[in-house]
Amino acid sequence: MSTDVSICFFCDKPCVMREGDNDSALVECRSCGRYSITKELEFHFDDRAAYLTRQNRRRLGGVAREYTDARQPLVFTTDTTMDLLLQAPIAFDVPAKIRKLIRDIARRSLFAGDYVGYHRDKDWTVGYADNREEFIYQIEYAQELKWIETSAVSCYEPSSEQNDITIALTPLGWEELEKSHRVDSKRVFTAMSFDKSLDTVWKDGIYPAIESCGFTPMRIDEEEFTEGIVDKIIAEINESRFVVADLTLHRNGVYFEAGYAKGLGLPVIWICREDELKNSHFDVKHFNIIVWQDVDNLRERLSTRIRAVIGKA
Ligand SMILES: [Zn+2]
Repeated sequence: MSTDVSICFFCDKPCVMREGDNDSALVECRSCGRYSITKELEFHFDDRAAYLTRQNRRRLGGVAREYTDARQPLVFTTDTTMDLLLQAPIAFDVPAKIRKLIRDIARRSLFAGDYVGYHRDKDWTVGYADNREEFIYQIEYAQELKWIETSAVSCYEPSSEQNDITIALTPLGWEELEKSHRVDSKRVFTAMSFDKSLDTVWKDGIYPAIESCGFTPMRIDEEEFTEGIVDKIIAEINESRFVVADLTLHRNGVYFEAGYAKGLGLPVIWICREDELKNSHFDVKHFNIIVWQDVDNLRERLSTRIRAVIGKA
């Protein structure tokens, strides 16, 4: 196994590269984190500028950094590179990049008000910046909006070699983060009865309807019912862009989950099987419920409603 000092594929800075598994190279970059890249893709990258624009390489560096920070392994192949690019903000989506930055500060804060250290030469990938100058611009931008406060790192602090600035989120920053979670989220929580008779309604109706609009459908399965279930449901709803609530069979939890989502300001799309509508709780009767007859009919109408109310992901 050989270890080499070379140049990172994405940020063009020195990095450590060694041989990885399955004909790939393992890269460790101070800015982009840890990622693997297949030999096939490495070959394309030999002429970096011709294979991907500088902006797109920077975007991939940001993706690699996010995976590293989330402790998820990441392998770039010729097949996955385009999909990974789609996860990254584009060059001039400045607000999206700054949301990434404030999310990183929040993730690394040990408590509200904590000052988190960054090095302006090395950490610009967290906000998908092109270079140090753009990162500084992002910090100033967030400061201007009063989302963050910064302080210079004292040269007497032991961490000052790694960091040259520390940043804390302000109350406005935390609020902005709450909002932005949902703007960016592709997750859609479904509240429904777990009765076996409704399995095909989920599999062939709700799931494909949500997916066809570019969102990721999820529900808590009956099997997962354990002690922490309420926490899990609340966490899932907190992360969702909107909620689909099926009133069929009138499980009490559906009303609770939909009510919780509405309290957060999330859109709720109500659905109910025709023969069950008469039993629904009076509070929801004035909502614009999709009253469905069969699974095909539900799938079609739900996807139309999502496109109308939410739009495509
Ligand atoms: Zn790099």
